Amino acid sequence: MPEAAAAAAPKKFALQQYKTEVHVDWCPGCGDFGILSSIQQALFQLQIPPYRVAMISGIGCSGKTPHYIDTYGLHTLHGRALPVATGAKLANNQLTVVAVGGDGDGYGIGAGYFVNSGRRNVDMTYIVFNNGVYGLTKGQASPTLAKGLKTKSMPEASIQEGVNPIALALGAGYTWIGRGYALDVKTLVSLMVQAINHKGTSFLDVFQTCPVYNDLRTKEWYAGEDIGRARIRKLDADPEWDPVVKDPTSIDEIVEKKGLALRASYETGDSLAVGVFYSIALPTYDEQLAVKVPALKDHPLVDLPLYQRDVAPLFAELA
Ligand code: SF4
Repeated sequence: MPEAAAAAAPKKFALQQYKTEVHVDWCPGCGDFGILSSIQQALFQLQIPPYRVAMISGIGCSGKTPHYIDTYGLHTLHGRALPVATGAKLANNQLTVVAVGGDGDGYGIGAGYFVNSGRRNVDMTYIVFNNGVYGLTKGQASPTLAKGLKTKSMPEASIQEGVNPIALALGAGYTWIGRGYALDVKTLVSLMVQAINHKGTSFLDVFQTCPVYNDLRTKEWYAGEDIGRARIRKLDADPEWDPVVKDPTSIDEIVEKKGLALRASYETGDSLAVGVFYSIALPTYDEQLAVKVPALKDHPLVDLPLYQRDVAPLFAELA
C-alpha cells in the first residue's frame, strides 16, 4: 500500500500490538530506541498483521530487537540474519520478513551474506543499525568506523579504512537502497514503509548513536553543533533528486542512477546524505522460483505436502 494511503487508512491493529512486554535493556539514550520505535510504527502504519511478520536478527545490541516486537522472531548467529531471513521467506512467502543487525554483524561477520543477498533479490527488508562500534563487546572499531578515528573505547586510532555500505549495496545489486538516522523517527518510519513496500530486497542503513562507546558520532555531532548546521542532508530536499530507475532494461539509466547514488554515498564529514539512494523494479527470487515450481504460486512451501509428512518415525529413529 502506498505510504500516504497506509497512513490514512483505518487501523485494525493497534500500535501496542506490535510491542512486547519484554524489558528493553539497551543503555539509556541509545539510538536503537528510535529504530525500534520506527519499525513498530512502520508495521502499524502498513497494518501488516503481527502474525504475518518475521523479525530475524544476528548478534549484537541490535540482535535483541525481535524480543521487543510482538511478531514471529528469531535471534540467530553472528552475521547470519540474512540467510535465515532468506530461508524464512522462501519457506513462507506470505510472511513480511525483516532482518536486522548491527554494522559489525552485517558488514563484518556477515559480509559474504550481505553481498549475496543483494544479488538474489528475495522479497524482504534488511535494516542495519550502524554505530561504528561493536557495542555489545565494549566498543571495538567496527567496519564502518573511518580511518583515523579513535573512540573512547579504543586504545589507538583505527588504521583501517571504513567500508561504505551504500556503495557495497549498489555493487551487490540491492534493488532498493536507503539510509536514515535513528533520532529522526518521522523520516525513518517513512523510509521503512517504503523499504517494506518494495518488491525485492530492500536495504536500509541507519546512522545510530551509541552514547556509551562512540563518543565521536554523538547526537550533537549529527546535529552539527560544532559547525553551526545539521550534518544530515535529506536527499529528497533536492527537487532534482530521483533515485528510481524508470526503465530497468536500460543499462545507461541504471549506471547513471547508480553513479549519482554512489556520489551521494561518499558524502562524509560535514554532510551525510539520508533518504532513498536507489530503487529499481526487478523480478524477485521468489517470483522466479514460482515459475520453476508452479505449486509455489498459490501456496507457500510450508503448506505443500512435503511438510505434511508424519515425521514421528524419523524422530523415533533419531531418539
Ligand atoms: Fe546502545 Fe551502545 Fe549501549 Fe549497545 S552499548 S545498547 S549500541 S548505547
